[in-house]
Amino acid sequence: MEKKVSELLPAACQFTKLEFEGPDVVVYMRSIQSFYADENLIRKLAAALRKRIIIRSDPSSLLPAEEAKKIIESVVPPEAGINNLAFNADFCEVNIEAMKPGLVIGKGGMTLKQIITRTSWTPKILRTPTMPSRTIRGVRDALIKESGDRKKFLVTLGKKISSIPAAKSDWVKVTALGGFKEVGRTCMLVQTPNDKILIDCGINPESTDAQKSFPYLNAMNLSLEQLDAVILTHAHLDHCGFIPYLYAYGYDGPIYCTPPTRDLAVLLQFDYVDILNKTPGMTCPYTKNDVRKMMSRMIVRDYEEVTDISSEIKLTFHNAGHILGSSMVHLHIGEGLHNLVYTGDMKYGFTKLFDNCHNRFPRLETLFMESTYGGANDISPKRNDAENRIGDICAEVIKKGGKVLIPVFAVGRAQELMLVLEEQFKINPNLKDVNVPVYIDGMVLEASAIHTAYPEYLKHNVQRRILSNDSPFESKIFEPVKQDRKEIVAGPPAILLAPAGMLSGGPSLEFLKMLAEDPNSALLFVGYQSSLSLGRKIQRGLKEIPTLGDDGRINTMKINLRVETVEGFSGHSDRLQLVSFAKHLSPKPERIFTCHGDETKCDDLSRALSRYLNLESRAPMNLDAIRLQ
Ligand SMILES: [Zn+2]
Ligand SMILES: [Zn+2]
Repeated sequence: MEKKVSELLPAACQFTKLEFEGPDVVVYMRSIQSFYADENLIRKLAAALRKRIIIRSDPSSLLPAEEAKKIIESVVPPEAGINNLAFNADFCEVNIEAMKPGLVIGKGGMTLKQIITRTSWTPKILRTPTMPSRTIRGVRDALIKESGDRKKFLVTLGKKISSIPAAKSDWVKVTALGGFKEVGRTCMLVQTPNDKILIDCGINPESTDAQKSFPYLNAMNLSLEQLDAVILTHAHLDHCGFIPYLYAYGYDGPIYCTPPTRDLAVLLQFDYVDILNKTPGMTCPYTKNDVRKMMSRMIVRDYEEVTDISSEIKLTFHNAGHILGSSMVHLHIGEGLHNLVYTGDMKYGFTKLFDNCHNRFPRLETLFMESTYGGANDISPKRNDAENRIGDICAEVIKKGGKVLIPVFAVGRAQELMLVLEEQFKINPNLKDVNVPVYIDGMVLEASAIHTAYPEYLKHNVQRRILSNDSPFESKIFEPVKQDRKEIVAGPPAILLAPAGMLSGGPSLEFLKMLAEDPNSALLFVGYQSSLSLGRKIQRGLKEIPTLGDDGRINTMKINLRVETVEGFSGHSDRLQLVSFAKHLSPKPERIFTCHGDETKCDDLSRALSRYLNLESRAPMNLDAIRLQ
């Protein structure tokens, strides 16, 4: 490779070295100015090496940081709103954080090119969220602080990824380690003779039984050190909640995900550690330091970027339409030996936040698909009707002087509901003249802030609103909870958007304990309630619920408030959408396995798919091992 590069590059570039840095190839040279003088060079290099290429100045040519800073500040217009410049000498990069990244890049990339050629530093442009986010600040600062360690890790990984195995892989095997015929603790091992890759590694947040909470990692017949890579579809804890445990017990390899998934996963895992350690009789199986370790091993990729995660496996993320940054995983294994798609949680239907999930792939033999709403009767109502129904229920409860408690996942449903409520207050005739606050609890606020840092992952019109300082998450109807929750409960009518979504704990359970006996108030379910959850029990009509008081005593919570469920807001596809997704897949897969659903749903959906599509389909159980090739 080095030879190819030195032949291709003009002598004026003064090529110094080539380095594998994780899945990327970095080409160093003393005169980056000469390189950018020929616009075709980068294309030629990429075509010759067939790898993702990063061009960097040799460290000896970098302008001192202070001088480079002055130049950057002079060429970038003040309207760009630069609020942080961080020089990262280990990667010869400068992080430029700005409110308007487009202005840092400039027309046709002109400003960026000026920065590169005048300072020799490679700019990395980051968007500042429109609402302050502790998580994003923390992640960005930590990545700079630990860049020395990260660099070493990536170089070691790069060598491993680029080394050619003794023999080509001739089989592919998948082992179901969790989340098959159930919702929770999603985990799947993909194995070839040369690679062992874990896709997702979650917990079951609704279970207190350790046997049912975590994936069957001990059934891998592998030690954690032997894993080559972890791939994460999205940040919900049932997919990422157990990943820090891997780092606590010996795994030290890469984890691949999208940039928003990284930030949201860190937010939710930190919260999980806090909640679990506060619960009497429970301890989290890992610490916040393990979360930090995980973060330092994350390699982020946007949708549609093809990445070599081993010498034989190419990974591509595609939009899954479920939550911010959620992705489907496409694995191209062994130069055409096998192509596998794992949908993760996905939405093939309308939401206010995201486009429909992706359904076209270059090649596809085996599909693993979620079945949360895969039952024959899981048909959600029309979105418009559901939205108006939410508005109407809110109006009725407010009229009676009550509170509407909407338990939501802090990430995903909360933001979708914020958009729905914002619109309902404008268009629903029953809510038009009503003026009540919609309280947003801390975690929801923080997750919403992270959304504003990644507008390109959102639907076009939401993206446009965020970019033009009209972020729907900052509408004046929303009020962050700053006071004691008791004060809100004692106060005038209000709408409360609070996690956890299935009432397993957090603000939603705290509010419920105070509101449960008030017949004027309402509990409004808008999201999935798993079979073990408190939410499901209340939905089924349970009226007396034992709860643990602050003093450790068992109390009884009497459910007198109105209980309503409005379906149709899920980030999951309903039965029709799941079937339609499978029917419209291109190319048609040879076989489909269903997962991520209660047993009956997985079975029912796989039967329907084999009937409608005339292909092999079944619902594997946890611990099943399946040979794909
Ligand atoms: Zn999810
Ligand atoms: Zn899930």
